Amino acid sequence: MFVHLLYSQLKISSLLPSNRNRSLLVHSLTKELGLLSTGKNHLAQLRILRPSPATLEDLSSYHTKDYLEFILNEKNFEGIDEYSGPSDHTEYGLEEDCPYFQGLSQYVRMIAGATLSATKALLDGQTDISICWDGGRHHAQKSQASGFCYIADCVLSILALKRSRITESDGSGRKPRILYLDLDLHFSDGVSQAFASSSSTASQVLTLSIHHASPGFFPASPLATLSDPSDPSFDPFTLSLPLCRGASNATYSRIWRIVEQVKDAFNPDYVVVQCGVDSLSGDPYGIFNWSLGDGDGSLGWCIERICSEWGCKVLLLGGGGYNSPNAARAWAYLTSIALGRKLSLETDIPDHAAFPLYAPSFILDVPAGQTQDQNTNQYLSEVEKHFANIVRVLQETTGIVF
Ligand SMILES: [Zn+2]
Repeated sequence: MFVHLLYSQLKISSLLPSNRNRSLLVHSLTKELGLLSTGKNHLAQLRILRPSPATLEDLSSYHTKDYLEFILNEKNFEGIDEYSGPSDHTEYGLEEDCPYFQGLSQYVRMIAGATLSATKALLDGQTDISICWDGGRHHAQKSQASGFCYIADCVLSILALKRSRITESDGSGRKPRILYLDLDLHFSDGVSQAFASSSSTASQVLTLSIHHASPGFFPASPLATLSDPSDPSFDPFTLSLPLCRGASNATYSRIWRIVEQVKDAFNPDYVVVQCGVDSLSGDPYGIFNWSLGDGDGSLGWCIERICSEWGCKVLLLGGGGYNSPNAARAWAYLTSIALGRKLSLETDIPDHAAFPLYAPSFILDVPAGQTQDQNTNQYLSEVEKHFANIVRVLQETTGIVF
């Protein structure tokens, strides 16, 4: 098996104002932990890809011409270094949490190019698992930047997968099914909206977002509430599973049964996982209390199940995560899982330039904190009830019954 890790041009991917230098930390820790070595005895062989920037044609498969002409033309921002105040750029969302920054057009092309190169490696049959930690920009809209996201790389990737064909054992071809699973603290509004439909006919794409939702919490979207099959606008292929504050391994362990039932009912060929780590304990948002570890329900446990037990081709993408050293810990650890070389959580952070940032623990683990899990048995039972009906609808629609 091969795992392809996308190494974008780190100086460019590190420009993102909300996550300045995070990409450098992530990729340097991955390297320092020895994960880039390719010994013959390793279960998986790692190939590092250096992506080319996305072309206008690539980006146009989703984004509008007006948006691309605006965001890719540096002349529109002449004389500006970085700007987030009121401006005539608001039409395209370039304000507040999505300021213009120098290098924006290069950043957009590089991030989209990195995720698309990772996708292509799966499509070409070169690998079973592709990783692009700089991707996962799940809030970007067709013609607007939003929520620190300027380019909808997840959508571009799913569209590329959707256009491909699966060859069956008898030589016949069919369209692939793609499951998009979003583990970020925030609802995947950009991706969910892009593929939402109220049609009951089987869709090629199913989106499932597990996130926090409460009044005033970003992003405000009617799709971010608990999916309800009795709702007239219910779409079994656009699913939302909001969790209350303090969500811990115990809660994720319980809802993971639902995730796997949805996966089994949909029977995907490809799984695109947005691994935003603002849902981990220690993130400045401080909302969930999820841990990186390898116990049941932890992020590592979930990703290990996807990579080793689901039997699909997997694209792992990054996303949110505002404690940069913890994001580096998490994505390096998930890389080790994808490679079948799972590191111990007690692994010492190697001595390298960024070492002081890993104080005070100086180890790989991102443990749970003290926040109480407010996902009550009553709430989780309601979630289970809704999703039992959803799984039935999916089985009827897809014709897959277990
Ligand atoms: Zn987020």
